[in-house]
Amino acid sequence: MSYQIRVMGDPVLRQEAKSIDNIDGRIIQMVDDMVPAMYQAEGIGLAAPQVGIQKRLFVYDIGEGPQTLVNPEIVDSDGEWAFEEGCLSVPGLSFEIIRPKEVHLIGRDLNGNEVSIEADELLARLFQHELDHLDGVLLLDHLDRDERKAALRRWREIQSSPGARPASSDDLALP
Ligand SMILES: [Zn+2]
Repeated sequence: MSYQIRVMGDPVLRQEAKSIDNIDGRIIQMVDDMVPAMYQAEGIGLAAPQVGIQKRLFVYDIGEGPQTLVNPEIVDSDGEWAFEEGCLSVPGLSFEIIRPKEVHLIGRDLNGNEVSIEADELLARLFQHELDHLDGVLLLDHLDRDERKAALRRWREIQSSPGARPASSDDLALP
């Protein structure tokens, strides 16, 4: 089946995803369907809630082929980095957001093996962004009150004129 990427306003994006106890055939199938959906949307990452599935899993590809992380957790972070961040679930908008520059992430791969990754800059940003999705957090939650208001106004404009959705190809489509 092909997945439709959910956009802001869909309640599934606001729920906390559940841990995966067993990496079974259904999970493998889900990943097999999520990866093409991510590529089709020209994203570099996609979290399960973005395709309507409440599981703690995301896929990503920063140019080294598709990867999957199951039950990911950030156990340490360091530094600060400002980066213009977009989201496949908030198409047309992007914001400069400051987050830790480096993170240490642990989790499991699709074979159930433990993974431990020290990530910097783009990959660290991607991990933090995807983790947010698993906790029901969206980009706009990182803005201050005024920025958020302006962003919501802009979002409503985009939503009410579907033909006039601005091209976001210059933005990094962090899933
Ligand atoms: Zn996103």
